Amino acid sequence: MKIIGLIGGMSWESSAQYYKIINEATRDRIHPLENAKSLMFTVNFHEIERLQHAGAWDEAGAILADAAKRLEVGGADCIVLCTNTMHKLSSSITEAVQIPLLHIADATAKAVVTRGIKRIGLLGTGFTMEHEFYKGRLEQNFALEVIVPEKPDRDIVHDVIYDELCAGMVRSESKLEYVRIMQKLVEAGAEGIILGCTEIMLLVGQADSSVPVFDTTTLHALAAVDFALA
Ligand code: GLU
Repeated sequence: MKIIGLIGGMSWESSAQYYKIINEATRDRIHPLENAKSLMFTVNFHEIERLQHAGAWDEAGAILADAAKRLEVGGADCIVLCTNTMHKLSSSITEAVQIPLLHIADATAKAVVTRGIKRIGLLGTGFTMEHEFYKGRLEQNFALEVIVPEKPDRDIVHDVIYDELCAGMVRSESKLEYVRIMQKLVEAGAEGIILGCTEIMLLVGQADSSVPVFDTTTLHALAAVDFALA
C-alpha cells in the first residue's frame, strides 16, 4: 500500500471528511481493520484565506510548496491537495516535489465523463468559478462545457463557503439558496452539478438536486485510495 500525503486545513472541516472517506473506503475494499497509510500536513486557513483575498498567490504557493516538501520528506508517495481553489497553484507543488499530485479536477471530470455528461454546472469559490485554472482544465482536457451561476448568485455561493462552511456552520437558509442556485443551473442546461468546493458536501448532496451531483471531496478522496491500493 502506498502512503497518501494530504495537504489539509483548507478548511479542516473538509480535511476531516477526506480522512473519513479514505479510511472507510480502504476498510470496505480490503478488511474491516484495514486503514489507509497517510500523512496530513495542515496549513493555517486564516493565513491562506487572507492571501487569497489579497491576491497574494505567490506567497500562498510558497506555503503549499513547503507543505508538499514536508510530506515528501515524511515518505508520502503522492500529494492530495484537499481544496479545489488552491489547485490554482498546483504548479507550485509539482515544481517542488518529485511525487505526483492527484489533481482534484481530473478525478471529478473522469466521473462526469463516465456518466455521459457534456454540459456541467460548477459551484465553488469565486476563484474556482471565475478563474481559468479549473473551468479551463475541464473544458480543454475533458471537452466539457462548464456553466456557472450569475454574479449575484456566485457571491452567495462564495460567501457561504468562507463565512459559514469553513467556519463550521451549516445553515438551512443557505441550503435553500444553494438548492435554488443549482436549479437555475439546470434550467440553463446543466446536465449535472460539480460541488467544486470541498465543504459544499456538508451543505447539499444528491437528494437536493434533480440532476447528478459530483462531490469533489468524495471523488478526490477515492482517487487517492485507488492510487494507494493500485
Ligand atoms: N475548500 C474550498 C475549495 O475546495 C475552499 C477553501 C479554499 O479556498 O481553499 O475550494
